[in-house]
Amino acid sequence: MIETTQVKEIILQIAAVIEENKDLLTDLDNTIGDSDHGINMSRGFKSVSEKLSTTEFTSIETVIKTTAMTLVSTVGGASGALYGTFFLKMAGAVKDKEVIDLPTYSALLNEGITSVKQRGKSDFGEKTMLDVLIPYAEVIAKNVDGDPGDVLTKASERAKLALEATKNIKATKGRASYLGDRSIGHIDPGSMSSFLMISVVKEYVLNQNLNQE
Ligand code: ADP
Ligand code: MG
Repeated sequence: MIETTQVKEIILQIAAVIEENKDLLTDLDNTIGDSDHGINMSRGFKSVSEKLSTTEFTSIETVIKTTAMTLVSTVGGASGALYGTFFLKMAGAVKDKEVIDLPTYSALLNEGITSVKQRGKSDFGEKTMLDVLIPYAEVIAKNVDGDPGDVLTKASERAKLALEATKNIKATKGRASYLGDRSIGHIDPGSMSSFLMISVVKEYVLNQNLNQE
C-alpha cells in the first residue's frame, strides 16, 4: 500500500539516488548543455530531503506539494520549473486520496506530464524528460489492472529503452537544441534524472512486496 508515509519514503529515496548520481547528471549535461543538471537536481533534492524529514505530513497531497514548492524555489534552470510543475500537478491529482494504487498513479502521471508539456511547450520526440516519462506512463495506463510490481517493472524496462533512445534524437527544446545535429549521439540529462526517479518507485514497490511475503 502506498500511503502518506510511503510517498515520503519514496521521495527521500529519490533524493538519495539523485545525490549518488549527481556527477553522472552533470557529465551528461556537460556534453549537450551547460554542466549544471546534477548540481541543480542535487541542490533541489537536498532541500526536499531536509524539508520532508523534519515535517509531519497528514496527506499524500501535502508531501508531493511540499516537494514541488521546494524544487521550484531551489532548483535553477529549466528543470526546476519543469519538475516543480510536474510534482505540483501530481499533488493536485491526489487531493483527497489516502492511497495511491495503479489507476491513481496513472492519473497523476498524466496530470504531471500534461503540465510539463504546457510549461515546456514540448512534446514526445524533442530529446527531453518527456521522452522517458511519456512511454513510461503509457505502459502504466495500459496495465492499471495488473500487479503493481509487474507493471512497474515492465514500465521501467520501457523507460530504460526510451532513455537509451534519446541518444538518437536531435534536440529541439532546451539548451541542447542550440547544438542542432551535434546533440545526436548523447543521452539527455533530464531523461536520465526522470529514469532514476522511475527506478526508485519500482524498487520501492518490489521491496515492499518482498517484505510482505
Ligand atoms: P538548463 O537546461 O536550464 O541548464 P537543466 O540542465 O537542469 O536546466 O535541465 C536540462 C533538462 O531539462 C534537459 O535535459 C531536458 O530533459 C529538460 N528540458 C529542457 N527544456 C525542456 C522543455 N522545454 N520541455 C521539457 N523538458 C525540458
Ligand atoms: Mg543545464
